[in-house]
Amino acid sequence: MNETSSENGEEPPSGDQLGSLKEFKSAGRGFWPDVPDANWNHWRWQLKNRITSLEQLQRLMPTLTPEEYAGTKLANTRLALAITPYFFNLIDPADEHCPIRRQVIPRVEETHTAPWEMSDPCGEDSHSPVPGLVHRYPDRVLFLVTDRCAAYCRYCTRSRLVSNASGYDFHPEFDRQIQYIREHKEVRDVLLSGGDPLLFNDQKLEHLLDRLRAIRHVEFLRIGTRIPIFLPQRITPELCGMLKRFHPLFISIHANHPRELTTEVRDALARLADAGIPLGNQSVLLRQVNDDVTVMKALVQKLLLCRVKPYYIYQCDLISGSAHLRASVRKGLEIMESLRGHTTGYAVPQYVIDAPGGGGKVPVSPEYVLSRNADRVVIRNFEGKVFEYVEAAGGMPRYKPSENFTAPELV
Ligand code: SF4
Repeated sequence: MNETSSENGEEPPSGDQLGSLKEFKSAGRGFWPDVPDANWNHWRWQLKNRITSLEQLQRLMPTLTPEEYAGTKLANTRLALAITPYFFNLIDPADEHCPIRRQVIPRVEETHTAPWEMSDPCGEDSHSPVPGLVHRYPDRVLFLVTDRCAAYCRYCTRSRLVSNASGYDFHPEFDRQIQYIREHKEVRDVLLSGGDPLLFNDQKLEHLLDRLRAIRHVEFLRIGTRIPIFLPQRITPELCGMLKRFHPLFISIHANHPRELTTEVRDALARLADAGIPLGNQSVLLRQVNDDVTVMKALVQKLLLCRVKPYYIYQCDLISGSAHLRASVRKGLEIMESLRGHTTGYAVPQYVIDAPGGGGKVPVSPEYVLSRNADRVVIRNFEGKVFEYVEAAGGMPRYKPSENFTAPELV
């Protein structure tokens, strides 16, 4: 079992599941009790000692289920298996349904595909003017810098390219990508992603950021990373000192379950926040991971404790072999309904569906506007109470009505 310790030694009130989920605990040393501190706390040791094979996994976790065994056997032809020792310690080997386990241990269901599932559900390849650059929205680009991550998420929307297990042949060409950005003056926002940009060493990342900062029309840099969650040891004071030279620089992390927010992660996020980097979180709604009102409430409240704004909850993309991890939109709306008004506004993320095939992010929300015409807007609040707002001059119907249309009287 995991060796975890409560930070302040206090037990949460019994039955207080929310309080218990919000406790910060260390991942502990678990399966690696004898590794010297200097190694354990070094990101390169963590990377070098990742769990990447079925043999390692079976040795550490004899409780592997037949579905996990079969999935892991096939993983290296689809999306590789890799888990840092630090993150592995968060898995409960006694619990087949452990929410951490479901995110990183392959299952045979990954080979079950449906006609509506895709290898590139967000249509990124069709919006790539040069390899590794996605230009889908008018004023910003997605700059894919690597196909490697510290660990691999089984629902990854870029599983076609990350880990290079399925032979995608990903070769970003920085010179061509940067040249494209230089030539497109409308690009004011560059999001570095991949794979995980924080896997680069400080010098390589600094050089890339320097080149982007030298482009005058690039106002804003962002990094999308799961490293603070999978490998908090990478968030060194030196890295933070380097990153703060490039403001405005925002970082989006990716945490799905409150148990991922350990004391190690909290401290790593504090180093980033102390470097003046605004932090946001992007979660993916996942079945039996976080498709639960209490779990999601604990996650968003705990993120605020780490100075991270919950930014998006993504409906899981229609990535091939992900049906066992996809939760319903109905459940997503129920979760949003449970957050809005019921907790701090800063804790409420935007729930979005990335429109299949490349339509971009579409916000989805419980319906709060019950009806609207040129005169009045009828709304309901988080308690279900209905209110009428008298529309300001110039209020127009949302859709242009046909010529024969007569607006109904509001009741
Ligand atoms: S860290 Fe991000 S890019 Fe890497 S496998 Fe997970 S979701 Fe995919």
